[in-house]
Parts: sequence; C-alpha cells; structure tokens
Amino acid sequence: MKYAALENYVGGRFVPPAPERPYLDVHSPLSGDVIAKVPLSTPSDLDAAVAAAKQAFPAWSALPIKERVQVFYRYKALLERDIDDLAALITEENGKIGSEARAEILKAAELTEFACSLPQIASGEVLEVSRGVECRIERFPLGVTASIAPFNFPSMVPHWTIPNAIALGNCMILKPSELVPISAGRIAAMLKEAGLPDGVFQVVHGGREVVEAICDHPDIAAVSFVGSTKVAKIVYRRATSNLKRCLALGGAKNHLIVMPDANREMAATNIVASMSGCAGQRCMAASVMVGVSGVDHIIERMCEVARAMVPGKDIGPVITAEARARISRYIDEAEAAGATVLVDGRTTVVKGKEHGFYLGPTIIDHVTPDMRIAQEEVFGPVLVIVRAKDVDEALQVENASPYGNAASVFTESGGVARHVMERASAGMVGVNVGVPVPREPFSFGGWNESRFGVGDITGRGSIEFWTQSKKMTTKWNREAGTNWMS
Ligand code: NAD
Repeated sequence: MKYAALENYVGGRFVPPAPERPYLDVHSPLSGDVIAKVPLSTPSDLDAAVAAAKQAFPAWSALPIKERVQVFYRYKALLERDIDDLAALITEENGKIGSEARAEILKAAELTEFACSLPQIASGEVLEVSRGVECRIERFPLGVTASIAPFNFPSMVPHWTIPNAIALGNCMILKPSELVPISAGRIAAMLKEAGLPDGVFQVVHGGREVVEAICDHPDIAAVSFVGSTKVAKIVYRRATSNLKRCLALGGAKNHLIVMPDANREMAATNIVASMSGCAGQRCMAASVMVGVSGVDHIIERMCEVARAMVPGKDIGPVITAEARARISRYIDEAEAAGATVLVDGRTTVVKGKEHGFYLGPTIIDHVTPDMRIAQEEVFGPVLVIVRAKDVDEALQVENASPYGNAASVFTESGGVARHVMERASAGMVGVNVGVPVPREPFSFGGWNESRFGVGDITGRGSIEFWTQSKKMTTKWNREAGTNWMS
C-alpha cells in the first residue's frame, strides 16, 4: 500500500483514527491496486470536527475579509508550486490522464483566485432612503458549514466550495468521496501552510453514516452537496428537514443538438472531447447527441476522432470495476434493443495496465428516446445518437429529460442558436461548445433534477449561499424628520 491509512484532519492536525473504526480499501483505477485505506468516520468523529470549527469561528469571522483572503493569495501560489505532485495524485486516485489532472488543479487555482476578489464583489450596499436615514446591507457568515464531494473531481469540486465559504468567514468540514479521499489531506496541509488558522477547515472521511450525521448535526448551519441525483435528494431532504440551508447538485444527462449546418470539424472534435474527457465522468459531459436531419458527415468524423484515441494515453479508466461493468451493460442493452454501436470501447485493454478499469470511447447510433441508455445517466465515455427531423423535435427530446445540467447546440445559424438557448431546459447552455461550464465570476448550477435548492454553487451566486445579509437602518441627524417609518 503506497499511502498510510488516512486520517481525519481536525483542529489543524491529522487525527489517528480510533482502533475499532472500520476502513475501506482505496483502489487506483489505473491498476486496480489498493493504494490507501480510508476510515469510515462515525458521528462522534464529526462531533470533534464540528467542535473545533465552532471554536475557530468567532476569531476567523471577526477578521476583515481583506485579511481573510490573504490566506488564499498564498494558497493559490502553493497550488501552482505543487501542481505536478497534486496532478499526479489525482491521476493515481481517480485515473484521469495527466493533462486532465493538471487542468483540475488549474481550475482549483482559478476558483481560489475568485475567492481573492470577494472583498470587491461581496461588498454591501448603502443608500440614503429618506432624508437623514440610511439603509445598508452587510453580509455575515453562517458559521460551521459542510461540503460533501463526489469522486469525479477530487480537487476541483472541493474548491467549488472551500475558498468562497471560508473567505466569506465560515468554517468548513469537507467530506470527500471515499473513492478518492487522498487529495483532501493535501488540501488541508496546503491551507495550513498558507496560514489558515487551525479549526477553520477540517476533513472528515467516510460514507453514508457521516453524511447523515452532517445533515442532522445541530451546529452545522449549511450543507453543500455534489454527487448523484439519488443522493442529492436524500441529502437535500434530510438537511432541510433539520432546518439547514442546503444546495445539492445532482447528476446529469446532457444533450447536444447538432444541426446539419454545423462546422464539421469543430462539432466533431468538441463533441468527442465532451463525451470522452475524464472518461465521460463529468456532470457536464455530452451524453445524448440529437442529430437534426443530415448530420452523417459529422458523425463519420466523430467516429474517426474517437477511433484515433489511445486508451491509457488519451483517455483514462473509469473509477471502479463495477462502474465499467455497469456502463458495458448499458451498451449491451442498447445494442440488443436495435441500436448500432459505431465505435465500441467495451473490449479495451491497455498493455501493461491489464487490471485497470479501462473502457474506450463508445458511440451508438439510432438510439430511440425510450431506451434506458437515452434516459439514465451512464457516467462513462459513451455518446448515444438520437435522430430528430427538426430543431423543435430535438428540443422535445432534450426537454423530456428529468435532468437539466447542460445543453448545447452546434450550428452556424444565430437564429437557431438563440431558439435553442431560450428553450433548452438546462441551467448551463452552450453554442458550439461541448462543455459549457461557466467560468468565474459566472456561477455553476443546473436546473430540474440536477440541482436542489436555490442558487448556484460557484462564482457570484455562491456569495448568497454562504452568507446571510443584515439590513441596517440608521439615523444620526437629529434634525431629520420623523414619520410613520421611523
Ligand atoms: P454519489 O452520489 O454516489 O456520492 C457523492 C457523495 O455522497 C460521496 O461523498 C458519498 O460518500 C456520499 N454518499 C453516497 N451514497 C450516500 C447515501 N446513500 N447517503 C448519504 N451519502 C451518500 O456520487 P459519485 O458517484 O461520487 O459522483 C458521481 C455523480 O456526481 C454523478 O451523478 C455526477 O453527475 C454527479 N456530479 C454532479 C455535479 C454537478 O455539478 N451537478 C458535479 C460532479 C458530479
């Protein structure tokens, strides 16, 4: 085992687990080998983390925001200093290829950079509302908060929440995915090196039991969750039933509408990059292409691009052997139902990494909207093609999905693009963009069953979630008149 048994991070130090605590093996998807063991924390472990956060909160929240963000200026420099190591760790625990893992750290740095701009962006508002009477709004942190993360971005998704929540004056408990728990310890150590006071940030490892304890804990004010829709619903219901603020981002089934006038090369390369990047394990990945009438020339090119990809070099493995088997079953079932597998990744083996969980890019044509593979989140490098006679029929397919994270249209027509932008039932919409992720200061967040709660998780939208506003009305001028409002 390459890494020692992992420990929680509480009050600024790594805490050895209680001897009786159960552990899970952490496998590298590259080889299937066990590389670490992660403790399954209990509610009492969470209590210790919450107590440390509660103790740290008064002093941290009392600092002016300009002082708090100094930690994140230094932290961003550490991310840049350690990018090679951090990216290598992501590749090891998650399986991403090197360039994708580096991109994840660069994105973590961008998210940190946004937090550094919060003193300017999260400033309050003041107005003389009647003669001599002034109203002002100031933002105050919530207290102890929690962030529950999925396996597909061991570093980026935690950075969706950590820098903003902490810069805005909160303390935070991170519950990383038990499938990729190692990066969280590096984040904790770097935050300490950057000067974050002990107790402001903690890591509590584990699975369902500790997530439920987070939702129930009376001293946690707000919970953010990113993961599957099934668990997002559980977390949202449980946290809000305990009267907490909660934002829970769920799964996705993203549709790309491809018009016959789309630029062939741009559409083909963007669509294949979207469906295969991070082995299709992105909540923004292309999942269903809705081809409108004559798009065979684009599909042919997509197949060429996908076939040219080298597994192990251009595309990493999926997260577990079970995930690979599940994804393969979806493909088998679609084929049995009459769909045509144009590019088949099921038999992929990478030389020297025969025990890795590899699956090549897969493109399936003539899928009908009623097939399971067209409706459910597959979360692997699989793109299904559904045919539509016109853009409105394509939109009907998109609109019928219960999810609503992302949608894109590929076309050279501004009118068609606008038509789709207005009618797609998704929170993030692209034109000629395969992965329409809004970059800071714009906020990330879907619609429908891809997000439960109000608002978005990153960018400007996150300010609302991580703070509460206080409205202050003042009158210092004795000569100011008195009326029914005063
Ligand atoms: P998951 O829902 O299985 O796990 C997410 C977190 O919930 C983990 O920390 C896990 O320990 C915990 N968990 C799992 N089962 C639980 C249960 N029954 N009760 C309480 N907690 C539980 O998700 P995953 O497989 O780690 O991640 C992939 C999913 O995340 C995909 O559906 C993907 O679309 C989604 N995702 C969404 C976004 C977004 O922005 N909408 C971003 C990234 C990933």
